[in-house]
Amino acid sequence: MEFTIVRRNGNINYQLIPTGKGKHLVLWRKYTFSESNGIYYCSSKWKHKCSARIKLTKGKKILPIDLLHSHEPPNYHLTADGVYVKV
Ligand SMILES: [Zn+2]
Repeated sequence: MEFTIVRRNGNINYQLIPTGKGKHLVLWRKYTFSESNGIYYCSSKWKHKCSARIKLTKGKKILPIDLLHSHEPPNYHLTADGVYVKV
C-alpha cells in the first residue's frame, strides 16, 4: 500500500496520510493513528489491544494522551519521492 505525504513542515513533526473519504491517518514517531470523534487512536488499537492515543490541537500540534504502545511500530519506509510504503 502506498501513501502520499500531504503535510511536511519543519515545526510539525508528524505526517498526514490520506486514506480516502476525506479521512487521514497521523503518522507520528513511527506509529499511525486514526481519528474517531476528535481523538486519534493507535491503528493497532484492535489488533494489539493498544491504548495509545493522541489529539491534535487547534494549532495542529500533537497533544499526547497515552503514549504507551503495546507493540512495536509498524514498519514504514520513506522512499526518495517522499512516499510512505508499509513494508
Ligand atoms: Zn499502538
